Amino acid sequence: METDSGGLLVDAGLPPRRIGALLARIGRNLTDVKAVLLTHGHTDHTCGVPSLVRERDMEVFAAPGVGESLGANTVAPGASCTVGGLKVTFFEVPHDSMTYGVRVSDGGSAVAMATDLGEASVEVLRSMRGAEAVVLEANHDTDWLRRGPYSANLKRRISSSRGHLSNRQAADAAVALAPHGLKDLIIAHLSKTNNSPTRACGTVSGALREAGHGGVRVRAAIAGHPTPWIEVGTPLRVPEHVYRYGGRGAAGQLFGIE
Ligand SMILES: [Zn+2]
Ligand SMILES: [Zn+2]
Repeated sequence: METDSGGLLVDAGLPPRRIGALLARIGRNLTDVKAVLLTHGHTDHTCGVPSLVRERDMEVFAAPGVGESLGANTVAPGASCTVGGLKVTFFEVPHDSMTYGVRVSDGGSAVAMATDLGEASVEVLRSMRGAEAVVLEANHDTDWLRRGPYSANLKRRISSSRGHLSNRQAADAAVALAPHGLKDLIIAHLSKTNNSPTRACGTVSGALREAGHGGVRVRAAIAGHPTPWIEVGTPLRVPEHVYRYGGRGAAGQLFGIE
């Protein structure tokens, strides 16, 4: 995420060198990043943080129980702090470790993000409501998970109310958020084993269309690829890196990775 006063990362689950290489593909580098917001302590979200702090002197912000051992500034859930000119608020989400979603606002527009959650409860939806752009987990297709290769234990953990969001649950959440100004939805944290971008985008955008919200632009974030910039509120200064949606139907542009 970035404004004129700098950039923020939400989580850092890759080595800094990899993060730098991904940023380069969208016209930025690590020196543009001023701080990291941490959602929870699982290593797929934190493993790059110690090096970013040590080598780049980056500031880390997190809600209680998440980033103390990584030297994070602690921000109480529901309270907001200002990071890089943006108002940042953490809200609790149900997962098998203390986990938070994050809402970021410049005073006008807001974006919200929640991956790693077992269900999109009323409280979670309330915290994300009104965001113009939302990053939401769509981890697995329920049938694929059930028939897939994971152990019974792991399947139970993933599909529990403190596990990960299915495509169907993500679709329901999207339909609930759509009437409140949602323009762009990025579905994220897709399982490579129990999901595919086509499957996830199909389920979510199909549900949005059926509910009369076909205008919401849906795309999947693909691991190992940068998600193209999305403009929120005022335009960014480097428009050539901003993904612009043309006049084609939503289905043709679900995962336009450039
Ligand atoms: Zn995760
Ligand atoms: Zn997790």
